[in-house]
Amino acid sequence: MNEVNKKNNPVYSRDDTGKVVLDDKEWKNILAPEVYRVARQKGTESPWTSKYESSNEIGTYYCAVCGNPLFKSDTKFESGCGWPSFYEPISKSSIIYTPDNTHGMQRTEVMCGRCKSHLGHVFNDGPQPTGLRYCINGVVLDFEKAKQAEEKYNSEQIS
Ligand SMILES: [Zn+2]
Repeated sequence: MNEVNKKNNPVYSRDDTGKVVLDDKEWKNILAPEVYRVARQKGTESPWTSKYESSNEIGTYYCAVCGNPLFKSDTKFESGCGWPSFYEPISKSSIIYTPDNTHGMQRTEVMCGRCKSHLGHVFNDGPQPTGLRYCINGVVLDFEKAKQAEEKYNSEQIS
C-alpha cells in the first residue's frame, strides 16, 4: 500500500527536510485511506496487524507520509503492546510532542517533525537508556533495510 501511495505523493522525500504543510483535502487526495485515517485523523491501527511489529531487520524507519527519518532498528524493542515500539527517535527534530488528553487518559502524542502526521504515543515505561516507549502505528512507517547489513548477511550466507 505504501508503495502505491508514494507514486501519487508529491511531498514524499528522503532528502528534503523542509516542513510539509497541506490542507486536509490535499492530504486525502495523496494518501491511501488507512494512512490518511491514522496520520491525519489521529486514528489507531488494530494491534498486531503491522508487519513491523515483530520485525527485527536492520535498517531505518521513515515517515510513510513524507519520508522523514524517524527511528533506527537498533532502538526497536519487543514491547508486547501490539504496535512497533522504539525507545529513541533518530534525532530531536524527527518528532514533535503534544499533550493528548482524549479518551480519559493523559498521554503524549508523537507526530512527525516534518509533516506533523500523527504517529502514535510515547510512554515512560520503556527500556534503558531512555526509559521511553514510542508506540507507533506501523501504517505510518516506511522501512528501508540497511544496505551494508544486507550485504554482510548475504556474504556470510555464501562463505
Ligand atoms: Zn512525516
